Amino acid sequence: MTIVVIGAGPAGLAAARSALRAGADVTLLDSSDQLGGQFWRHLPDAAHAAKQRVLHHGWSTFEALASEVTQHPSCTLVQNAQVWLIEQRDDGAPRVHAHVGPVDSVGRTALTLEPEALILATGAHDRTLPFPGWTLPGVYTAGAAQALAKSERIALGSRAIVAGAGPFLLPVAQSLALTGARVLGVYEATTTAALMRGWGAKPWQLGAAVGKMPELAGYVAGHVRHGIPYFTGRAVIEAHGTDRVEAATVARVDASWSPIAGTETTIETDAVCVSHGFTPRLELAIAAGCSITAERFVEVDVRQQTSIRGVYAAGELTGIAGADAALAEGSIAGHFAARGPRSAEISRAARARDRFVSFGDRLDAVHAPRPGWTSWLRDDTTVCRCEEVTSGELASIQSQTASCGLRSLKLSTRAGLGICQGRICGRSVEELLGGTFADGVATDRRPIVSPVRIGDLANASVELPTEETSHQKKH
Ligand SMILES: Cc1cc2nc3c(=O)[nH]c(=O)nc-3n(C[C@H](O)[C@H](O)[C@H](O)COP(=O)(O)OP(=O)(O)OC[C@H]3O[C@@H](n4cnc5c(N)ncnc54)[C@H](O)[C@@H]3O)c2cc1C
Repeated sequence: MTIVVIGAGPAGLAAARSALRAGADVTLLDSSDQLGGQFWRHLPDAAHAAKQRVLHHGWSTFEALASEVTQHPSCTLVQNAQVWLIEQRDDGAPRVHAHVGPVDSVGRTALTLEPEALILATGAHDRTLPFPGWTLPGVYTAGAAQALAKSERIALGSRAIVAGAGPFLLPVAQSLALTGARVLGVYEATTTAALMRGWGAKPWQLGAAVGKMPELAGYVAGHVRHGIPYFTGRAVIEAHGTDRVEAATVARVDASWSPIAGTETTIETDAVCVSHGFTPRLELAIAAGCSITAERFVEVDVRQQTSIRGVYAAGELTGIAGADAALAEGSIAGHFAARGPRSAEISRAARARDRFVSFGDRLDAVHAPRPGWTSWLRDDTTVCRCEEVTSGELASIQSQTASCGLRSLKLSTRAGLGICQGRICGRSVEELLGGTFADGVATDRRPIVSPVRIGDLANASVELPTEETSHQKKH
């Protein structure tokens, strides 16, 4: 059995290990030059870091996983491998195209694979809602702040603030403090009442959260040790500065995240790190023809198989529930993709996965962005930063176009056509324009997943999606 796993984060590594244990030949591809994904982003080996585990939970789990997978004789590991296209073969099975080599370098090696089964474990990227001044240097996504702390030990700013929503704000503040930044405060937009209601209800459904208690306790202790205050029901609604951020306005918000007039406070700061949750990287799954749920995750069955036979998905692609959930789902996907026999270990992973799914649902219900965030925008607030499209321009074009399809809005405003291809602004543009587009296309669809040099494209023996074929899949 030949299996390709895309993504070497917790889900992809666990999937590769399970599939190898079940006897498959595994090719593990990742665009990064390191294993571990976002959760175990670490200093390069050349740094000879003696304390690699300081900023990482479950570091010994990573070491065990990575060494078993990489030393297995049936595993081919390809790093710096950017999968840029998945084609569907005549029988519906996937054909995977990757370029291997440093990002955007000339002469990357083209790799085409036709596995018997494919496991998608491409994770998510962090989401930041726009606000006036968010394009100033010194305003970062919290994910970028965390990545710099973990993989470079760089502390952003001497007076940092962390804002947004969700438990991810806690490790980010902790990493900033551990790398030497002074963190002035963590501002969680969800109100105290909503937190109590959301996390307090039906506690018996929160079995997975019990396992997370030591991690949470570690963050609380870290915040106390570093003197980091934690506020709820507050959001950064503006960043100020000329060449870079110098201050930020924080306001109290109501349950729908609308700022409450008269509660604004301006804080001097040189680093504003903001995260409002995560957006799954759906483009490869969409290209492979997989069904997407109403909540915009890859639809999977109990074996983690998608709607396409032989294509499996695991980790943040199927729901945002943290690294432990990704590990459980990866183990299940790898096992069933390799047609492994009944196993007590996989039954345990399935029970863990089910608990984590409830935890992830709760996370989303409590911390997902509320519609009031749009009221902190002004007409001149940039929404699409690549193409510098403002909130006012989007509203004006929307009122003028009759069709209100995503394609016409993209072409008339250019929102989502820049280098990030709507990864940063896509969901915000959708929400600002009322949720759904007349042509039924969502901003997650990117037939060509990453920038490809024209020369590489010309040399590629692929059938590129045409306007017609890519519109047949209305995701
Ligand atoms: C920036 C960021 C920082 C985070 N930090 C933390 C943290 O500190 N603590 C925490 O609890 N949670 C953190 N999270 C959440 C965390 O990502 C998940 O809980 C966990 O890592 C999910 O595992 P995964 O395997 O699903 O995805 P990931 O860990 O994201 O792994 C996905 C892998 O797929 C690869 N990939 C994606 N697309 C392609 C492609 N087209 N071709 C080839 N390879 C590809 C990526 O390089 C990556 O290695 C972070 C998330 C983000 C986005």
